[in-house]
Amino acid sequence: MTSDPTSPPRSASISKKYPYRRDADGNRICAVCGEPCSLKYCSEACRDKAYVRCWPDWARYMVAKRDHGICAKCKCDTEKIARILKAAHEMITGCSWGRCVELDTVRTKMGFTREHLWEVDHIQPVSEGGGLCGLENLQTLCTQCHDAETRALRGRLAADRRAAEPMPLFTEIAESTETRED
Ligand SMILES: [Zn+2]
Ligand SMILES: [Zn+2]
Repeated sequence: MTSDPTSPPRSASISKKYPYRRDADGNRICAVCGEPCSLKYCSEACRDKAYVRCWPDWARYMVAKRDHGICAKCKCDTEKIARILKAAHEMITGCSWGRCVELDTVRTKMGFTREHLWEVDHIQPVSEGGGLCGLENLQTLCTQCHDAETRALRGRLAADRRAAEPMPLFTEIAESTETRED
């Protein structure tokens, strides 16, 4: 289901976060772990680490390779659901087009509001410090579970904001009650 991301990473952002490195003697070392090596990265693991942090498509590709579309929360198999959806649609309508409107309708009725059935989710949210993370902070969530998580996070952030706001002055409260119509 998931193919290699074809577009090359925006090398500018990767080379900014992970520039070529040399040690004090001028010998080339890995841009990620600092081990001596002849190329930019000492290993595929180090290259993936850099790519995952800088390149969202690569992060999605790696998460798909690891999780195979299985939601970390409700454990539904989104790759299987996508296959069943496509096969059922093809059987009923004879249409094998993956972007058919009828297919969209069935998918939406099943509660999947987007064309892709899963999202890359930050286990520790970006807004709560999980931004520049590696694969270990990323998980697969089906779109329903992801939407639920997003709503919960919004609620938490709003509560934090309310707690941080100073109490309105008594006069402001008095004014607002005076001007109220009802
Ligand atoms: Zn390395
Ligand atoms: Zn789920």
